[in-house]
Amino acid sequence: MPSEHAKLSASSASRWINCPGSVALSELCPDTSSSSYAEEGTIAHSLGELKLRKAEGEISPQKYAAELRKIKKSQYYCGEMEEATDYYADMVMEAKAAAGEDAELMMEQKFSLAQWIPEGFGTSDAVVIGGGAIQVIDLKYGKGIKVSAQGNPQLRLYGLGAAGLFSDLYDFDTVRMTIIQPRLDHISTEELPLKDLLEWAETIVAPRAQAAFDGMDVYETGDWCRFCPAKATCRKRAEYNLELAKADFKLPPLLSDEEIADVLKRADELTHWVKDVSDYALAQALDGHEYPGWKLVEGRSVRKYVDDLKVAEALQTAGYDEAMLYEKKLYGITAMERIVGKKKFVEILGDLVIRPQGKPVLAPESDKRKAFSTAEKAAEDFKEESCLQK
Ligand code: SF4
Repeated sequence: MPSEHAKLSASSASRWINCPGSVALSELCPDTSSSSYAEEGTIAHSLGELKLRKAEGEISPQKYAAELRKIKKSQYYCGEMEEATDYYADMVMEAKAAAGEDAELMMEQKFSLAQWIPEGFGTSDAVVIGGGAIQVIDLKYGKGIKVSAQGNPQLRLYGLGAAGLFSDLYDFDTVRMTIIQPRLDHISTEELPLKDLLEWAETIVAPRAQAAFDGMDVYETGDWCRFCPAKATCRKRAEYNLELAKADFKLPPLLSDEEIADVLKRADELTHWVKDVSDYALAQALDGHEYPGWKLVEGRSVRKYVDDLKVAEALQTAGYDEAMLYEKKLYGITAMERIVGKKKFVEILGDLVIRPQGKPVLAPESDKRKAFSTAEKAAEDFKEESCLQK
């Protein structure tokens, strides 16, 4: 996990490759990204690296124990992190074993990307070289969404940097790029011939990186906008989303099925955009900025006890039994998994957890989930199946 900050970082490569203008625009915008996930990720990476160094025999048991004690002091350390980093370390060691007896493993390998990206550099969590291939492995500790390695610019840049660093020392013609997301049981790999990766770097990365570095005003909206510091005030993104609002004025007076499908396709992005703009405007208003026709007011407030213990005491003094005053509540599934770790959770509670059928939602045809059967459709399917069996 890179700690230093590059102007064109590998982690934001998807954004600046697709929208080079976002780099200059971002410099004008406050960075509102939350740091708690980053801190949690940093601790998980340190623990994963420590386990790999132990597995490689690079550190003594005493040094390992001392480093582990430091990590355990973090507020983010928990059973789930232990399991996730065990999983990561096991997978990396398996990849090394699969690469052959002479395979080499490097942790936290820094490399330069300056050949393609001005001032570009990066760090790969783990690099395995052997069997005619170089493999970069990236630990993603987050569990928000599964990240695919297919066509992933961040991973490709890690692969490119590591290949550039070791191409004089080792023989390989294949680059394998792997994401391990232990908390989602997710592993994704893309494998490319080295020459294809180099061609991508020359024809796509280098020109876009130069355009981004030079501050060219070339903008393109897409999924990457959600991680852009300019996401709330970018005109290009606003124009894209406001086009959708204009759908209301289309003739004839009722929307066609095609228009509704178009609205659905863009509604998700529209919702995100409206939230981004609202959050930004609120932050600015709290900072003293005024928007014409708008003012800050106090939001809805919910009553709360001043002091829980004093409330209980007062009620008991008034004759209410203690048992009446408290509710006993189990931690929810996510919190419980965090406390005991995912493996133990399944071991102890596997038979006691069910997943009820989810509520139907509309999703694009490309969605991987199978289509939901409504009651009528299920009855029809059943009828058809019965007829076929006769
Ligand atoms: S919000 Fe989207 S279109 Fe606008 S600068 Fe950022 S990435 Fe580019």
